[in-house]
Amino acid sequence: MQASDTHIYKAQRQILANNLKTKGITDKRVLEAIRQVPRHAFMDERYIRFAYQDDAFPIAAGQTISQPYTVAFQTQLLDIQKDDKVLEIGTGSGYQCAVLLEITSSVFSIERQEILYESAFKRLKELGYSPHLRYGDGHEGWPEEAPFDKILITAAAHEIPPRLLEQLTIGGKLVMPVGGANTQKMTLVEKISDTESIFSEHGGFVFVPLLKGKV
Ligand code: SAH
Repeated sequence: MQASDTHIYKAQRQILANNLKTKGITDKRVLEAIRQVPRHAFMDERYIRFAYQDDAFPIAAGQTISQPYTVAFQTQLLDIQKDDKVLEIGTGSGYQCAVLLEITSSVFSIERQEILYESAFKRLKELGYSPHLRYGDGHEGWPEEAPFDKILITAAAHEIPPRLLEQLTIGGKLVMPVGGANTQKMTLVEKISDTESIFSEHGGFVFVPLLKGKV
């Protein structure tokens, strides 16, 4: 059962959004999404009281719900527009997916851990969100639904999976933490033609690894 929303949670979200603003999040749609999404409903029960702290926390299957700043930062880098078709790799708790759904209605998200896929599916539905979720390996992307205007990868690897770049529109953007296990560089890819992309790096982050196959 999801913990219900309260005035206290709403007030805590205001404070969290203000906190993210002081850390450099300026996109109004992103800040509004942070104010709207009940993060406490995405937390493992043991950590609910910390839901509006700007930190990552453990969820099932040894994974994590990303830190709100990281969610906001990746979303802001992608410059999500109202009608964008977005692909997320690593549904996890579903929190980032809900933040995206506050901005655009067309969100596709893939998770390789069945237990997380199932709980995110149930949770997002109960909260009234309508994402398209798939249980599978995100390296393959979602070819039947491609191309996507924006692609967001919430797990780290040494390289951007080529199939994901293929599934990006020309003019589209992809964001992914690229690097080894200890730290990664937040990398923005802007695809300018079928063969050319512009890469830029936006600071250091620590993510769980992007793994092969599904479990
Ligand atoms: N966006 C999530 C963050 C989850 S952490 C949230 O807001 O809670 C990253 C997630 O990526 C984990 O759930 C992990 O299981 C998943 N993951 C790792 N490799 C993957 C792959 N190849 N395909 C899909 N999901 C993957």
